[in-house]
Amino acid sequence: MEHTWDLSFLYSSFEDEAFLTDVKKWPEMIAEQKALLAADIDDQTKLEQLFELDEAMSALVDRLYGYVSLTLAADAHNAAAAQYEDKLALISNDSRLVGSAITRYVGSLSNLEEILAASAKLQPIAFALREMAESARHTIPAEIEPWILQMSLSGGSAFSQLRDKLDSTHTVEYRGESLPLPAVRGMAYDGDSSVRKDAYEAEIASYKKIELPMSYCLNSIKMEARTLAKAKGFDSVLDMTLDSNRMDRETLDAMITAIREYLPHFRRYLRAKGKYLGHTDGLPFYDLFAPVGKASKAYTIEEAREVLLREMGKFTPEMAQFIDNAFEQRWIDVYPREGKSGGAFCASAHAYDRSIVLTNFQGSFSDISTLAHELGHAWHNRCLAGLPFAMINTPMPLAETASIFNETMLSHQVLKSASEEEQFTLLEASLMESTQTCVDILSRYLFETEVIDTRADHAMTVDELKDAMLRAQEATYGDGLSKDVRHPYMWACKSHYYSSGFNFYNFPYAFGELFGKGVFAQYLKEGDAFVPKYCQLLRSCGSGTIAEVAASVGIDVRSADFWRASLEVVKSEIDRFCDLCEKQ
Ligand SMILES: [Zn+2]
Repeated sequence: MEHTWDLSFLYSSFEDEAFLTDVKKWPEMIAEQKALLAADIDDQTKLEQLFELDEAMSALVDRLYGYVSLTLAADAHNAAAAQYEDKLALISNDSRLVGSAITRYVGSLSNLEEILAASAKLQPIAFALREMAESARHTIPAEIEPWILQMSLSGGSAFSQLRDKLDSTHTVEYRGESLPLPAVRGMAYDGDSSVRKDAYEAEIASYKKIELPMSYCLNSIKMEARTLAKAKGFDSVLDMTLDSNRMDRETLDAMITAIREYLPHFRRYLRAKGKYLGHTDGLPFYDLFAPVGKASKAYTIEEAREVLLREMGKFTPEMAQFIDNAFEQRWIDVYPREGKSGGAFCASAHAYDRSIVLTNFQGSFSDISTLAHELGHAWHNRCLAGLPFAMINTPMPLAETASIFNETMLSHQVLKSASEEEQFTLLEASLMESTQTCVDILSRYLFETEVIDTRADHAMTVDELKDAMLRAQEATYGDGLSKDVRHPYMWACKSHYYSSGFNFYNFPYAFGELFGKGVFAQYLKEGDAFVPKYCQLLRSCGSGTIAEVAASVGIDVRSADFWRASLEVVKSEIDRFCDLCEKQ
């Protein structure tokens, strides 16, 4: 069977008449939007027509971007795709400005509720319209918006680009060889402890070369974030971020409170892993990702498919059928190859009720888990099928619900029949992940908060940044990590701090992991009766605030108890891991 994906349902090629027509049609549709906005017609008709047009345009853009970006992801050398990517980016700028104008228009309608009540066409997207009216209060005044967008090109965006440049051209002197940073960071997973240690030391030493420009990038991007938050009428950068995530402070606080309470357990896991690896005083940073246990079994893609069908089918037979169909209909590009992008993702082709999955399968159990994760996203997309585009926009913290649910389900099933040796390896891999998404994420949140707050007064020096990072690690990892072997430069290697216009790119990860686990805990409690509720939850992810969506299945995300229940799942894994550690 074929193991590359099939995109022919979108277009047959870049010369396809349908593709060329769509490229021409997009700017025409933007012009139509502008004309409609200016038209002298009653507001209800105008809104109805604007959103009809918006639906058609979303489908078209989805198709175009899908084809171009997926082609590039599978083949970075495709020149036609690269050319069209640039072309689409230019049109998209225009589209964004019209989008802001529509938002302002919706915000200006004092009778929006009456219009909604009178219009059967607008009822299904009422939430999106109300949200738009609300966010109109936080748009930059029309007269200065183009200037601010322009300034960002030489401000935040420029520093973001500089950061990427510094990162991608950075080399590390490792054992007499000059290697790219990702290659050396990847050695943290090596089975040989001397490789891990040498790689870590080489990595830390290498940052001297880029620490100064990196610090300027970070300070400038966070300064711009402060300015933008102010210009948009938010009290803080965090408030601006929470707003764009449809999340409230109470929810964030409840989650962080619970994570803090469970830090001692994570430290217990880290110390146990350290002891297993022969360290007496916590885990040195370079062994955080050290593999433990015997090398595990290797799987072919056919075996992986069987495991997924068997184990995920225990949730509902429909899920097994769905996964089987994804393989059969060539939704998945399976193997790594030159020119194909690394990692894994799932893209949605909403208008076709179809998903497209990229993985770099090499046969480990973690690769099967990755497939389960991405197919969870695909299942989520299936649950959203048929909804208007305006209502499928899932905020980042909720976007990982189905993927984490699937991962948790798979590991839960597999652990049941695993030998103690296999359990040891599987549990450790799972805890390594959870430690990143809870403990490390909390350290990043604390660090970023400090940088943004301090920026009100001054730009932090390299030494101040290093010191802040070490304090954030002390407050979270604590004695789980060796006192002297930590990572003062985590701010120089994580791209997440440098996205202009997107801040606190950290807590949504913790939310996603713990929410997915919490939903799974609910499933264990309620059994099969929970299946339809679960699908309804996924279907509603773009139709309300996070608290509303969660409340629809009886989950109160503002209560620390919900988060404690998720963390209890992790704690039981830690308990079991520590037991097994003693036996090893
Ligand atoms: Zn994901």
